[in-house]
Amino acid sequence: MTDGSTRREFLGTLAAFSLFPLEQEKPDLILHNGHMVTMNPAEPVAEAVAITRGRFFAVGKNADVLNLAAPGVRKMDLGGKTVLPGFIDAHSHPAAAGLSHLRMVDCDLRSISAIQAALRERAAKSPAGDWVLGFKYDDTKTEDGRPLSIADLDAAVPDHPVHIEHRGGHTVYANSLAFQKAGIDEKTPDPPGGRIDHDPATGKLSGRVAESAQAFFEKVLPQDFTRDDHREGVKLISKMLAKTGITSATEAQGTPTDLRAYQDARDSGELLYRAYCFINYRHIDAMIEAGVRTGLGDEWVRVGAMKLVCDGSISERTARLSTPYEGRPSDFGILVMTEEELYTYGRKAHLAGWQIGTHANGDVGIDTTLRVYERLQRENPRRDPRFRLEHCTVINDSLIARIKALGAIPTPFSTYVYYHGEKMRYYGAERLNHMFALRSFLDAGIRATQASDYPPGEFIPMMALQSEVTRTDTKGNVWGPKQKITVEEAIRVGTINGAHASYEENLKGSIEAGKLADLVVLGRDPLKENPSTLVTIPVERTMAGGRWTFES
Ligand SMILES: [Zn+2]
Repeated sequence: MTDGSTRREFLGTLAAFSLFPLEQEKPDLILHNGHMVTMNPAEPVAEAVAITRGRFFAVGKNADVLNLAAPGVRKMDLGGKTVLPGFIDAHSHPAAAGLSHLRMVDCDLRSISAIQAALRERAAKSPAGDWVLGFKYDDTKTEDGRPLSIADLDAAVPDHPVHIEHRGGHTVYANSLAFQKAGIDEKTPDPPGGRIDHDPATGKLSGRVAESAQAFFEKVLPQDFTRDDHREGVKLISKMLAKTGITSATEAQGTPTDLRAYQDARDSGELLYRAYCFINYRHIDAMIEAGVRTGLGDEWVRVGAMKLVCDGSISERTARLSTPYEGRPSDFGILVMTEEELYTYGRKAHLAGWQIGTHANGDVGIDTTLRVYERLQRENPRRDPRFRLEHCTVINDSLIARIKALGAIPTPFSTYVYYHGEKMRYYGAERLNHMFALRSFLDAGIRATQASDYPPGEFIPMMALQSEVTRTDTKGNVWGPKQKITVEEAIRVGTINGAHASYEENLKGSIEAGKLADLVVLGRDPLKENPSTLVTIPVERTMAGGRWTFES
């Protein structure tokens, strides 16, 4: 142990204060008089923590921890407030979302006229001819009961091309000028795997295009994000996540550009959450060539799994199912990659020491993905590969048994039942008892995580707790009550289970001496709260690595 980093590593893996002379390891900060729910089974509740160099140095009773205070040490009285470990969002798209928030109009509004007003306001500030871009539009959430039309968009913004992404990510809406620029008219045929919608009465463009037809626009949209923009995007989303108590997030569809943006934001002190950056399979050859694999990095920016995509989406009803969607007897959803493709990329990554995370929503998608993982392990067994099933939404008993046998990790949507209740009826009451199946996962001893998939889902951890515990949407409908879990279990899912999903359970996920000082101070105790108001619990402060990343 000759250099500082090795010594820090050593400190981190042991409850070290008894091993090092106090004059060398004085706490920087003591938080006391808290109600700390630690998620450490050896010491489930504590009153105080001492923090040094970004880690918990001591955890325990007020008297014992305050005893460590040397003169001049900062102390903070938490006034009995509840403290939890920082939340870990195990599947999200924060870097991309940050860029969107930086540049685009947030169309998460409740009427078409409100969306029109927001677009009009942006257009007024933009030179004529410049694109007006929107995102987070959701056709099921406006009071109008119909989707945005090309006429709505032309009326709002006639002199700028307008392009609006649905928050699910599989469809876009545009105005006439944008269609012109994209080279699409009424006679343009649908591309393979895509659709250009027409008004059934007139045959005119409706304004909506789906799936691969989005590529027409991608060719003409402004691609002028600078390196600084990417860093700014991370900075912006950092503040949004920190405000809700998130201290770590998986970037679930990352690229080398995202990895650089995270490093840039960290270097400039603007990164407020720890990023586990997946790498999309399209970049895997270059990464392997460079000698990179899962785990490279540090506790702020780390290379995550290789990302594959097996099937479609839950919110936009394209997940691949064994029995059809309710009321659509011939619609089973879609498979995006073939089993052979998944295997080819998976094998390459598996042999090079990468974790693999495959988007698999429907039971057929999950079955296919598991078959690939089982084959990889059979042909080339690796110790503890922690295969991930991104979303892993619709399950059954035999899938559960195979997930358990493989030690695989599901990352089910945490806020969908609460936030996307209006989409649940497409799946039916019976199937909902096998969706976002935390009860089944936990009963089987499977370490499922909290995951927002933002922007498609909301990322607020208190909303995740309410959704998982009550299985009730904002209108009071209950969806899949058999999958309810307890508040305590939901906290575990959102903290230590998330750490395990990135091989960091010895580093974070609980308030424990030696671990990273990541925590959240709440206005009320979720364990004493009425489950139907969990989402209203205020986050007062968030800390990552001993530094306050949010203070209310
Ligand atoms: Zn995702």
